[in-house]
Amino acid sequence: MNLQCLGWTPSLATDFTSTGLPGCIAGRVAAEHRDRYVVLSEQGEAAAEITGRLRYAAASRLELPTVGDWVVLQPCGDGFAVIHSVLPRRTLFLRKVPGELTEPQPVSANVDVVFVVTDSEADFSPRRIERYLLLTRESGAEPAIVINKADLRPQIEELVRSASAVSGGARVLAASAQDGTGLGEMASLLEGARTGAFIGSSGVGKSSLINALLGETTLRTTAVREWDGKGRHTTTSRQLLVLPGGGIVIDTPGMREVQLWAEEESLGAAFPDIEELAAGCRFSDCRHQEEPGCAVLLALENGELAQDRYESYRKLCRELKFLAGRQDVRLRQAEQARWKSISKSVKHVMKAKYGHN
Ligand code: GDP
Ligand code: ZN
Repeated sequence: MNLQCLGWTPSLATDFTSTGLPGCIAGRVAAEHRDRYVVLSEQGEAAAEITGRLRYAAASRLELPTVGDWVVLQPCGDGFAVIHSVLPRRTLFLRKVPGELTEPQPVSANVDVVFVVTDSEADFSPRRIERYLLLTRESGAEPAIVINKADLRPQIEELVRSASAVSGGARVLAASAQDGTGLGEMASLLEGARTGAFIGSSGVGKSSLINALLGETTLRTTAVREWDGKGRHTTTSRQLLVLPGGGIVIDTPGMREVQLWAEEESLGAAFPDIEELAAGCRFSDCRHQEEPGCAVLLALENGELAQDRYESYRKLCRELKFLAGRQDVRLRQAEQARWKSISKSVKHVMKAKYGHN
């Protein structure tokens, strides 16, 4: 296995060299299963764990490896290895942890292109596309919109046009996993060992497209040594796959459950037209609701801005505010807990030193 095929670049090589860890090699995380990883490197495939040091130094889950990460790896022989550190990420996909917590969780790293997949049938909705574009831009990856099941729709060009109207400059292509339409174009976006990932509703054909790109020969399951060290073999599903014609695809369960997790600033990236209008508002903190001199409301009034686009913008704003609010609560709680433990340990030291507190 050569690192270039996995997406290795000169700038990663520089980052790796600067870690200066002796006896270590570079590898890329191909699967994550609880706290265990499958890592690919020039030495092949290894079952890896992170060092205790990395675990305790990590301020949050964000600093731990995820699929797609480049890591500093120490091979320990017999197909085992230890991960010492994570190299700086180019892009990062996050999702909200399931349940009440609003702590972000990394689901994939170093993805260059995200295929935002919809179908030519009931799933197709410019509003839904906008949401996925927002998430993608937040990750730092470049989006490409794929309208799959083109074989079921004679007038696919209509849908391409309506997706292009909300794409914010992203490429839009019609595809069919069934008859092969658009597959060449998708593959060409991954040329030069670029890494792609897929998001979109269930049933739109993400797996079918991935399988069509992989062809029949690619092995999706991989045998790794039993994690508990008892010497048995187990198989796990590889979540990072190299295409036969070059390029890499990441397909993790987390990417499939991606939820709205975005910063308010990224709204502007998903709605460049509204952003542009907002520059003309009288107040710089205009919420475009009822403020006097609001250029967005004016554009709405004179038909320059479509009502449904404005509404989907407002809806996203509200959701993001809600998420941001919950996140603040979490941060405050974490901060309080930290102070509690600091004051506890100060008391402890005082007691040891002076015999009282
Ligand atoms: P996923 O949930 O997004 O991974 O969707 P799947 O890949 O599992 O596909 C869902 C269903 O759509 C399956 O029954 C596929 O056979 C079908 N399907 C996928 N791609 C196409 C396509 O391009 N054309 C047609 N007609 N059906 C498709
Ligand atoms: Zn305004």
